[in-house]
Amino acid sequence: MIEISRLVKRFGAHTVLNGIDLTFREGTVTALVGPSGGGKSTLLRSVNLLEIPTSGRVKIGDAAIEFTEGRRVAFSEIQKLRRQTGMVFQNFQLFPHRTAIGNVMEPLVTVLKWPRERAVSRAEELLAKVGMAHKRDAWPSELSGGQQQRVAIARALAPSPRVLLCDEPTSALDPELAGEVIEVLAGLAREGTTMIIATHDLRLALQIAEEAVFLEAGEIVEKGKAAVIFTAPARERTQRFIASLTHEKGAG
Ligand code: ADP
Ligand code: MG
Repeated sequence: MIEISRLVKRFGAHTVLNGIDLTFREGTVTALVGPSGGGKSTLLRSVNLLEIPTSGRVKIGDAAIEFTEGRRVAFSEIQKLRRQTGMVFQNFQLFPHRTAIGNVMEPLVTVLKWPRERAVSRAEELLAKVGMAHKRDAWPSELSGGQQQRVAIARALAPSPRVLLCDEPTSALDPELAGEVIEVLAGLAREGTTMIIATHDLRLALQIAEEAVFLEAGEIVEKGKAAVIFTAPARERTQRFIASLTHEKGAG
């Protein structure tokens, strides 16, 4: 279970997350939707502590941290929580000077200090899972965007995180390449991987997510079953937003 309680994040005087309470059940996929600037990335980055919340509580499994304004949290505590998460970014962020398998091995060898042979065999297994075994020794520059993102997903999964956080994983890809990434994420969802996915991609959200959260201006407007939020949301604001996504897709 992942729980965030009363989460506040401010940048200077700007409140970006304004008291967020959310629970994510193990084995479920949650889509995080809402207009640009609403706080989706900041929320994901607060769960893995790339951003340190101003206040509130983040709990992943048995590890929890209570943040209080003005009190520093030990880096070892932050690491303990962060290591239970994997992050996938919009722009892939592979290490350009490492091959596909080198990228997937990196967190195992550098962070977890696994012996090389064990890391190779885990990385090979993950590359196969994302359909990239045949590109094992390719450099990122030799891969399409969809292929790079699949390697990035394998890398994020390498340390067996409790939750996979995906920030607009298909936004940088044209529809066909987005499709192959969605397929990989759908496979992970079927296997019961816990995921929180910020996305504008209705196809992705509808196909994979069980739960959905609509976030605007740092607050939750509506949350519930994805099938309901994406087809018959209760709030007028959510309806307008979902309609805008549908039109965007139709136009594009
Ligand atoms: P979304 O992912 O929903 O588009 P973000 O979480 O990226 O939203 O941004 C929410 C708000 O926080 C925006 O107004 C953005 O400008 C602001 N913001 C995000 N990161 C920073 C930062 N590092 N410093 C200052 N403001 C930031
Ligand atoms: Mg964002």
